[in-house]
Amino acid sequence: MRIANRGGRAVLLGQGVALDVATASSGRFGPDPMAVYRAWREFAAWASGIDVGADPAAQPVEGAGLDAPVPAPQQVFAIGLNYADHAKETGMALPEDPLVFTKFPSALAGPETTVRLSGDRVDWEAELVAVVGEGGRDLPATWDAVAGLTVGQDLSDRTVQNRGDRPQFGLGKSFAGYAPTGPAVVTIDELRAGHDLDALRIGCRVSEDGGEERVLQDGTTADLVFTVPELVHRLSAVVELRPGDLIFTGTPSGVGLGRSPQEFLKPGQVLTTEIEGLGTIRQTFTA
Ligand code: ZN
Repeated sequence: MRIANRGGRAVLLGQGVALDVATASSGRFGPDPMAVYRAWREFAAWASGIDVGADPAAQPVEGAGLDAPVPAPQQVFAIGLNYADHAKETGMALPEDPLVFTKFPSALAGPETTVRLSGDRVDWEAELVAVVGEGGRDLPATWDAVAGLTVGQDLSDRTVQNRGDRPQFGLGKSFAGYAPTGPAVVTIDELRAGHDLDALRIGCRVSEDGGEERVLQDGTTADLVFTVPELVHRLSAVVELRPGDLIFTGTPSGVGLGRSPQEFLKPGQVLTTEIEGLGTIRQTFTA
């Protein structure tokens, strides 16, 4: 199933239609998009029996108009240097343990947004984002604790990110709208039915003023150093994972910082980020 957020209400997406979760469940689940993760097992069991397209209450939905599918998680984890080719382009050694930082939740935004650039060194990072189900501590390295996956961009102001002699990544990656996500959370069973869960194609491309698109990143999640189940295991060994927490799992090679010459996002550019089986998100940049 595909779970999205329309106007602050949880919806199930079908082919061109959306079904309001609170209405369809007679108030048992939703309308708050975060509520479905707090009751994840019951919700998933209920939703798996729903045929969205055949439900008379389903309404047509246009491409735009969706908000961040998980709008207010308690914790947002992000992982650095989690693809070998990306670590190489930044000149850093592969970490022996996941390199964990945060994107503050107020940076979260929906799938189709306009983002104001905070400076002239703002970079792109296409990322697979895992959504935690009911959460807990000391979780095993399996997919069971993961409610689903979505597309994200870890937009990064490199000047702010690398400031000081002990750089702290949080602020440089948390300007308004620097964590766009969506369009929906796709559950593991749905994705598994049509795709190799461990080898999803991931990338992003840019265009200026409606011109031709240029590919910036084109990788596969088969190259993840620490897989999603491994990250859930290692994070939960330290912190309690809460329902709906997000894990930005790192980016493949092709970021602007690693290019020669270096390249960063400019006003007027449109960045499209796509992951196989999950969909696309699109950001337009202004000064
Ligand atoms: Zn990142």
